[in-house]
Amino acid sequence: MKKLLIATGNQDKVTEIKEKYRDLEFEIVSPGELNLELDVEETGSTLEENALLKARAGAEKSGLLTLADDTGLAVDALDGRPGVYSARFAGPDASYEDNNRRLLKLLEDIPDEKRQAAFCTVAALVDPERNLEVTVEGRLEGRILTEFRGKQGFGYDPIFFLPERGKALAELSLEEKNAISHRARALEKMKSKLQENYHQTG
Ligand code: IMP
Repeated sequence: MKKLLIATGNQDKVTEIKEKYRDLEFEIVSPGELNLELDVEETGSTLEENALLKARAGAEKSGLLTLADDTGLAVDALDGRPGVYSARFAGPDASYEDNNRRLLKLLEDIPDEKRQAAFCTVAALVDPERNLEVTVEGRLEGRILTEFRGKQGFGYDPIFFLPERGKALAELSLEEKNAISHRARALEKMKSKLQENYHQTG
């Protein structure tokens, strides 16, 4: 079976992808399973560049078809920030809570109707044998809350409100979140690309 490397150090992502792609005819492997060290500096200025940097690095080191993703939160009132800087918004060693507090502080005087934001995930696939590169995007629209809500999830989930659910992302179970999330949408689109490019019917 053809191998598909997931270029991430995050085991949760690997598990999510293994589950989503279980009906595809690929053996999904993580860098750890191949004893590969992938320490890629995310120097791109867009999510797409960073996702491609990670996928290319994985493909180059392993010789395998490789998938990587990059996610950011784009806040309208901040002209799309933090974007590619979402992980380090409050500084290089910032915790999720530090980042959330910085964002709430910056939006202190912004009224509800101007607090729109979207999570965006770009997934990139690189096939070193075919010289093929494919990227897809998944988005989740919502609004930034004025205080923390919910205990599930991670990152900006406690301050990201989903109007159609009347809940913060951190108030959804993992299953509920994984059914609608930006990452899930990008991974679904990529699944179609894998089926198209590798002639799978699954
Ligand atoms: P990554 O590209 O998946 O590593 O995500 C970069 C940063 O975006 C993370 O450090 C989080 O701050 C944020 N982020 C990514 N995905 C999510 C999510 O599903 N919910 C909340 N925050 C997220």
